[in-house]
Amino acid sequence: MSRGTVSINAENIMPVIKQWLYSDKDIFARELISNGCDAIKKYRWLVGNGKAEGDDAPDRIDVITDKEKGTLTFIDNGIGMTEYEIVKYIAQVAFSGATDFITKYTEESKGEGAGIIGHFGLGFYSAFMVSDKVVIDSKSYDGSPAVRWTSEDGMEYEIEPSDRTERGTAITLYIDDADKDFLNLWTLRETLEKHCAFMPVPIYVTEVKKPEEPKEGEEKKEEKEPEEPKPINDIHPLWMKRPNECTDEEYREFYRKVFHDFEEPLFWIHLNAEYPFNLKGILYFPRIKNEFTASEGVIKLYNNQVFVADNIKEVIPEFLLLLKGCVDCPDLPLNVSRSFLQNDGYVKKMAAYITRKVADRLVSEFNTKREDYQRYWDDIHPFVKYGCIKDEKFYERVKGALIYKTTAGEYVTLDEYLNKNCADGEDKVVYYASDEKRQAQMIQLYNDQGKDVILLDTLIDNNFISFLEYSEREQKVSFKRVDAAADSLTEDGEISEDARKKLEGLFRKVMNDDQVDVQLKPFKDDALIAMITVDEQNRRFTEMSSRWGGPDMKLPEKRTLVLNDKHPLVKWLQDADEGEKTETVCAQVADLAEMARQPLVADRMVDFLRRSNQLLTELIEK
Ligand code: ADP
Ligand code: MG
Repeated sequence: MSRGTVSINAENIMPVIKQWLYSDKDIFARELISNGCDAIKKYRWLVGNGKAEGDDAPDRIDVITDKEKGTLTFIDNGIGMTEYEIVKYIAQVAFSGATDFITKYTEESKGEGAGIIGHFGLGFYSAFMVSDKVVIDSKSYDGSPAVRWTSEDGMEYEIEPSDRTERGTAITLYIDDADKDFLNLWTLRETLEKHCAFMPVPIYVTEVKKPEEPKEGEEKKEEKEPEEPKPINDIHPLWMKRPNECTDEEYREFYRKVFHDFEEPLFWIHLNAEYPFNLKGILYFPRIKNEFTASEGVIKLYNNQVFVADNIKEVIPEFLLLLKGCVDCPDLPLNVSRSFLQNDGYVKKMAAYITRKVADRLVSEFNTKREDYQRYWDDIHPFVKYGCIKDEKFYERVKGALIYKTTAGEYVTLDEYLNKNCADGEDKVVYYASDEKRQAQMIQLYNDQGKDVILLDTLIDNNFISFLEYSEREQKVSFKRVDAAADSLTEDGEISEDARKKLEGLFRKVMNDDQVDVQLKPFKDDALIAMITVDEQNRRFTEMSSRWGGPDMKLPEKRTLVLNDKHPLVKWLQDADEGEKTETVCAQVADLAEMARQPLVADRMVDFLRRSNQLLTELIEK
């Protein structure tokens, strides 16, 4: 037997690993299994290149839990290690990564919590996070004698001959008291399914059970045929297949299996790049039920089928995190840290590539399957709009495929809307409603003028149209809510300023608002008496600031009461003597105009109803 000390330059690394890795302890399983996969891959390579004699044993990794002994054993039939190799690889080199970890950790822990830890691969030494003792039994493919390495703290070790007879490595962890849970078959399976679901070598999990002693008098039970063991992982994840070899049903099934979502995905993108970087994956557009469930997406990141992490926003642009999917990038180091990713130009390029693919897919869906696209537009538009605001490049690519739903249920692009609704030389205005029911009358007025109204009724729309007006400022497009201006509902005509002044006085008094602007105009619709409009920019600003800044930021609305100069009642008001009757008429007109755009506040509603009842009574008394 020989003894040695693992050469490290950060003496106290083990206590640190044990202490700080608490939240992501289960990473040891991923590390040991991926080492096993590597060992098998190396062996296959040797065989493939005629450097080792192959045998028939199929590649496999076994994980065996033994509660009685308190051990968890990871066995692979890979290349194995000689004594020399164990000393060289296990005892020395591995620590360069770990010291790196220490420096990185101390840097990073200032800003972020323990969540960062999971992104450091600690390799073999992560086994000590959950163990009192680790034993390696290994037999190299080259026929060297099997060797056993034992260490209790990851620093001092003993080496002796091992009784292992087969090629490969068995790593036995004597699980410490705090981590006994990993010995439970259920916990173990869950851990492995999280980290190893797509590892490239079949993984079998078994539990060592005490053989049941036949009770006295009872006959020995007949041995039941043991069930054919099944690996816990899928060694050929769908993203590794060529896109043209995958069927729609396979994509759907993969989605169900991986994301446990039984709603069908709307559509998906199979990423398959070899140049300038190696990247494979499948991104699904989930059906988004409402804006608030939208954040439930999940994108799993893999390195050669080894799970790295969920939702790393440095690799996957934030707005794409609404999607669900798997992205496999073998060039991405397993032991990554956030600060590394943020500063990595390669990662940025990857993120840009993914964004571009998503945009291109949307555009091609729009161009080739517009009807389907329109059907799921209601589901995906908040996501697409959010992406446009977040990422200008995405907007530039996808803008031709942005569509708007009209209140008549049609879907149009911005150009289609403008071509149909704005005459040459006219201002490019898009009329929209934010509440189809409340704004029904205003919508009707525009429709009567032959103008379409689009529906923008989600939280993101307010920001989105401001973004769009700004981005397309050269085109001079503006969005106006149906109650924002009366311009296209009125005609030009001579207006008497005296009459307007008089009406302004009357209405300001009954409306108890000396700021309201009163205008007099002939309306295109003869029957309509009055309309209240609210300045678009002003209203948008108020809405945004009350959403983000709370009620203190609320600005008074800039309101205008527009009266129909052609209407007999308005004409009558211009000539009538001021008194109770003019006041009643003005109050009723103002209330009706207000109701056409939003419900009256409580007090005003009470007044309105009382006044209306009275008017009806007067009607029959006359
Ligand atoms: P890494 O996998 O990043 O090289 P690890 O700490 O996980 O770092 O492993 C260190 C080295 O130990 C490996 O590179 C490999 O040479 C050797 N090793 C670890 N586990 C095994 C195994 N199961 N079979 C053969 N060699 C192994
Ligand atoms: Mg490793």
